[in-house]
Amino acid sequence: MSKDLIDIRQLSKEQISSFFLQNGLPKYRGSQIYEWIWRKGVTDFNMMTNLSIELRSLLINKFIIKNSQLVCFQKSKDGTIKNKIKLYDGNYIESVLIPSNNRTTACVSSQVGCSLDCKFCATSKLKRMRNLNFDEIFDQIVLINNQSIKVYNKSLSNIVFMGMGEPLMNYNNVIKSIKKITSSDGLAISPKRITLSTSGIPKMIKKISEECPKINLALSLHSAIENTRNKIMPFTSNFPLSELLDSVKYWFEKTKKLVTYEYIVWKNINDKDVDIEALINFCKKSPCKVNLINYNAIGDSKFNNAENAIITKYVEHLKKNNISVTIRKSRGHDIDAACGQLAFK
Ligand code: SAH
Repeated sequence: MSKDLIDIRQLSKEQISSFFLQNGLPKYRGSQIYEWIWRKGVTDFNMMTNLSIELRSLLINKFIIKNSQLVCFQKSKDGTIKNKIKLYDGNYIESVLIPSNNRTTACVSSQVGCSLDCKFCATSKLKRMRNLNFDEIFDQIVLINNQSIKVYNKSLSNIVFMGMGEPLMNYNNVIKSIKKITSSDGLAISPKRITLSTSGIPKMIKKISEECPKINLALSLHSAIENTRNKIMPFTSNFPLSELLDSVKYWFEKTKKLVTYEYIVWKNINDKDVDIEALINFCKKSPCKVNLINYNAIGDSKFNNAENAIITKYVEHLKKNNISVTIRKSRGHDIDAACGQLAFK
């Protein structure tokens, strides 16, 4: 690969157009190429069939598209498909296609590995290598959309940032990818169909409330007791619950949308009455919903799902206090594609 080639996806439409003008070619060629790259997701200049062979070779000699490639995939008995994707520099990530009756969801990664250290998550055991570039996030969606059309005859309807990595630790690229995904120049997917899940970086939650108020926000709470949360998610000792609360209040103020608290109930960790009370008190402080998540085992004996009776108790108490609560079904468990299981098994 020649070092002099320019990664065309890092250029704006105007920059591409001015390249054509400089080469004595019409400016509209810039828009055409831009459309191939971002609306059609094409990663090979030779597939840009409305360009002449000469024009394609001009592009091939000057530019490169640093695209990601689908290496292999595994299909779960519930239809979920886990994909292993190779990035241009040889790193790998995983992304998941989750079909259901009324929607088709892509679960995308934001980092190679993860910056955080949640004790119950398989991805945190991997070394964090680097942030994904915005176009590498975009590629995952194009790849999964093509896969969904091929396998299920349906295009993607929803996108969740719940794969590998902490999206708010790669803020700029995540925002840029969301802008690309939602823009009419890109995939034109409604921001209402995008959910970003974060472990909770208060300053960044405030920032995203201003920059992307139309997406949905999910927050991995897992405990409303400071000490417990610090033990299972050690990085949170830098971000007290009071600051987190401040940021979700800000989210509601700016967006008028409810944050969803993601919450796993584990045996002997957060299965007591005080845990339920703490959660209810926390929920009452700012408008929210609670999503109870089934724990997907990652081979650590300290973490085990609580008894069903405890989950029922959580649900009853939340409902009694008028807090909306749902239970998230685990998908793709048999192929290690469920939440928190992405670690190249
Ligand atoms: N870093 C982001 C997004 C990735 S994790 C975040 O923390 O929100 C997506 C969701 O899966 C989070 O709610 C996370 O807490 C949850 N999760 C992690 N490990 C899990 C496991 N083993 N079983 C079930 N959910 C898990």
